[in-house]
Amino acid sequence: MDFTDKVAVVTGSARGIGLAIARRFAEAGAAVVLCDIDETGVRQAVEDFPGKAIGLTADVTDADDVARLFDTAVREFGRVDIVVNNAGITRDTLMVRMDEKDWDRVLDINLKGAFLVTKAASRILMRQRSGRIINISSIVGLTGNAGQANYSASKAGLIGLTKSAAKELATRGITVNAVAPGFIETEMTKAMPEAAREEFLKRVLISRPGTPDDVASAVLFLASDEAAYITGQVLTVDGGLTV
Ligand code: NAD
Repeated sequence: MDFTDKVAVVTGSARGIGLAIARRFAEAGAAVVLCDIDETGVRQAVEDFPGKAIGLTADVTDADDVARLFDTAVREFGRVDIVVNNAGITRDTLMVRMDEKDWDRVLDINLKGAFLVTKAASRILMRQRSGRIINISSIVGLTGNAGQANYSASKAGLIGLTKSAAKELATRGITVNAVAPGFIETEMTKAMPEAAREEFLKRVLISRPGTPDDVASAVLFLASDEAAYITGQVLTVDGGLTV
């Protein structure tokens, strides 16, 4: 897939899945704007990037940061073609023990953040009459998961946002899709208790954990010209875990 002359913005891209997505876009010729709340991480991430890339410190829950992100992207690279809502966190515990602040923080970053980014991006993409928005949801947004009521709700909400945005933006030449990864080896899953990791891995038909690159491949496909007639969909990338 060739993304020469395309500009991709990837949130939460200092590490993990977001970094893999950003790197793959850069390798395929795109100019990439990385953004993360982790200032040191995002600065280090762009240091050895293949091709054109800039790294910004931005919090997706802050509308001013999001506006600055897109202003910078347009100022540096002239346009925006692809937006990946990847920033996300977990604050896992059973619902009876879940603090209200852990509910709010997860919903704020995973769902409201994607709304703010989509809203700001849409203005640019609508003007251009073309664009691709890809939201990183999760299989637990489809199935639910004990200990992840906040996270599952945020990821299910992201699917609703994906479908609504697809309906609002299709006539402007913009597609909006979600990718729902299963168990992917990153810092996020390293933090899971061993028993929960094993329970997930037992159910993966392709008997290995996923890699950030497995998710990036799906994202690049949805961002490519080959996916021009696909919108409002959820592409599960889970090695068959939810089959
Ligand atoms: P990760 O924790 O390694 O990376 C997440 C990144 O998002 C971090 O760099 C973090 O600093 C950044 N971030 C957090 N809050 C932010 C904010 N407010 N503004 C900007 N950036 C912020 O996690 P990951 O495993 O790479 O996950 C990436 C995405 O994929 C997340 O949305 C996650 O929910 C989703 N996902 C991951 C898995 C998995 O198994 N790892 C499975 C399904 C979905």
